Amino acid sequence: MPVLVMKFGGTSVATLDRIRRAAKRVGVEVAKGYDVIVIVSAMSGETNKLVGYVNETSPLYDAREYDAVVSSGENVTAGLMALTLQEMDVPARSWQGWQVPLITTSAHSAARIEEIPTDNINAKFAEGMRVAVVAGFQGISPEGRITTLGRGGSDTSAVAFAAAFGAERCDIYTDVDGVYTTDPRIASKARKLDKIAFEEMLELASLGAKVLQTRSVELAMRYNVKLRVLSSFEEQSDDAGTLVCAEEEIMESNVVSGIAYSRDEAKMTLVSVADRPGIAAAIFGPLSDAGVNVDMIIQNIAEEGRTDMTFSCPTDQVTRAEKALQDAKTRGEINYHDLIADTDVAKISAVGIGMRSQSGVAAKMFKTLSDEGVNIKVIATSEIKISVLVDRKYLELAVQALHDAFELEKAA
Ligand code: ASP
Ligand code: MG
Repeated sequence: MPVLVMKFGGTSVATLDRIRRAAKRVGVEVAKGYDVIVIVSAMSGETNKLVGYVNETSPLYDAREYDAVVSSGENVTAGLMALTLQEMDVPARSWQGWQVPLITTSAHSAARIEEIPTDNINAKFAEGMRVAVVAGFQGISPEGRITTLGRGGSDTSAVAFAAAFGAERCDIYTDVDGVYTTDPRIASKARKLDKIAFEEMLELASLGAKVLQTRSVELAMRYNVKLRVLSSFEEQSDDAGTLVCAEEEIMESNVVSGIAYSRDEAKMTLVSVADRPGIAAAIFGPLSDAGVNVDMIIQNIAEEGRTDMTFSCPTDQVTRAEKALQDAKTRGEINYHDLIADTDVAKISAVGIGMRSQSGVAAKMFKTLSDEGVNIKVIATSEIKISVLVDRKYLELAVQALHDAFELEKAA
């Protein structure tokens, strides 16, 4: 029988009543003839609570025990979902990650999936079981310890199961009814997209759109898993939600597909560093060793052999970045007069595969921001995106103005 993967996020399993509603949706797909793999998150708020317990008990925690604690929320929902299905006379059982087993690396709290053997679950399907309810977000390391896949990781569990079982589709049930051109809470004209290309979704997710874990989109793209994002709170038709798919399956799209933003961006400036060969390596080497995710970089014109170097990184990595640079200075590898951290910035990005073939997008973006009096502090571009850093107080204005300028309220 064809296999379908259905993933339910925290808000979709937040109460017993919601678990029942989700189970009903599963029942509908079973009645259509699918064998279903259900991936569940923990009840909403549960993982945060568990993370809080760990931090309070042991600030410098052993990551293996963090995973043991934090993975437990999913065990509860997996069992409850299986029970609910059984109450509806749907043959179902639950599986924790290690029982499948979903084998990961040993990188606790950020493990990567290595392998998902299908024989255990397939043997049960062959015996007449119709639904395998799997606890998302968790796996087992080669050492036999429980691992987790990073926050939001059950999206990645879902896509990995879809790839391993050759599922027809991977449906991600959440509290929004799809992927929007931008955050509807900021721009009321935001429009739900029927389809979006993997690459665009990957950019939007990594640039701040919270709807899917970035890693899950990466996996879906690699294994060409059709991903659908849809709401568990509404009655759904077969073409509901947003389909994340290969570019070739999208006939028409706007040049810009979406505007993403991130509030958690900081701008760091090293004032007056010596402009010599190797200076960039001397600065960004230690940052990378310290695990700082540097995004945008600008080096200014040098004057009398000295220059300013500016880069951006997530706000919560500022302290780590400062320490790495200070240490490099102490070791005599770099020399600067001052290090200024500006945490009052936001990153706004325009994303669209249409940019590959159409010019003028950057110019239009800059003109729009300038007409609104928004000063651009840093710019970065790639083949399908343009990002700018602006003062955080302009975030809403900038998103709305760009949404209007690129007429994203209109479908292509
Ligand atoms: N429960 C985990 C989290 O809150 C994993 C997930 O829901 O995707 O991050
Ligand atoms: Mg999520």
